[in-house]
Amino acid sequence: MKPIIIPVFLPNMGCRERCLFCNQKAATEGLPSPSSVQNFIEASLARIPYDKKNREKQVAFYGGSFTAIHRDHQVCYLKTVRPFLASGLIDSIRISTRPDALDEEALSLLKEYGVKTVEVGVQSMIDEVLLLSKRGHCAVDTVDAISRLKGMKFEVGLQLMIGLPGDTCDRFLQTLDQIIELKPDFLRIHPTLVLKGAPLEILWKDGGYSPLHLDEAVQWLKKGFLRLEKSSISVARIGLQPTKELERDFLAGPYHPALHQLIDSAIFFDMATSLLQVSQKNGRALFLCHPKEISNLRGQKNENILRLKKNFKLSEVLIEGRQELPRGFLGLQIQEGVVSIDRKSLGS
Ligand code: SF4
Repeated sequence: MKPIIIPVFLPNMGCRERCLFCNQKAATEGLPSPSSVQNFIEASLARIPYDKKNREKQVAFYGGSFTAIHRDHQVCYLKTVRPFLASGLIDSIRISTRPDALDEEALSLLKEYGVKTVEVGVQSMIDEVLLLSKRGHCAVDTVDAISRLKGMKFEVGLQLMIGLPGDTCDRFLQTLDQIIELKPDFLRIHPTLVLKGAPLEILWKDGGYSPLHLDEAVQWLKKGFLRLEKSSISVARIGLQPTKELERDFLAGPYHPALHQLIDSAIFFDMATSLLQVSQKNGRALFLCHPKEISNLRGQKNENILRLKKNFKLSEVLIEGRQELPRGFLGLQIQEGVVSIDRKSLGS
């Protein structure tokens, strides 16, 4: 079960330079004092609904490069959480940081103060993409950091981005292959967006950068998803969380509040297509799936159904939800019975 996260934002704290895509200052206002962090934790705990009180509760220091800030400041923030850990009101701490700020000394400090989860901004494993995005680290820093984190038994989450300058679908899939080998516990994957106040805004306005189209992003992510599903790595989030700050600062790029569902719909479209390609068609099709997959098969605004009708000259496409069918399964009724496909069998 996912922990309840109490997020404390430390915008751009510890960041040596500004990454090309980052507008952290626009995302949150100012740096919190330790006393305001304490008040915020208390208020957040009080708001947790009764039925969720037994879930794991984590304070997360997000929005900067936690292990790159001055050691005294790290200790100051970590100490703020200590009384909550001691009383059992908070179970653990998570931080986000960059791969080149995770030496053994930094990790020992995190261990000492009860940090359980470290989220690392990896973005890409292609050095040219990292350079063009002004990340200031290389892929090898990520490999070293993950090995140290795993060696010291931290839970490891990685953030990847698609569509950064110099990125291609093949490069994204190469990145994923390397990441799968490194066996992190979970991933977040975000398409690159042009946000007000980020250095990327200027490059985009000057014509030096074109973001991915939404369809393109969905196709890249679909291929990535299918690879990830064959590994044991969970995907904690796809796409940025819709917030009022994001709505305010969004300028261009493949933003969609239900990106995950678009990817699942694209996968179900491919599954339906492959079933229709190999089976007899007589003007209509009856698909069988778990009731919770019906919307994935339909696609947004019935888009999949309309495309299947057009591509296969079908007059009717029917869907029957069956509780006993597993998620990720799609069946097609044919004269002789049912032909089926599992999403895990789709190639990427
Ligand atoms: S390291 Fe993270 S917070 Fe810092 S500038 Fe880069 S993206 Fe922004």
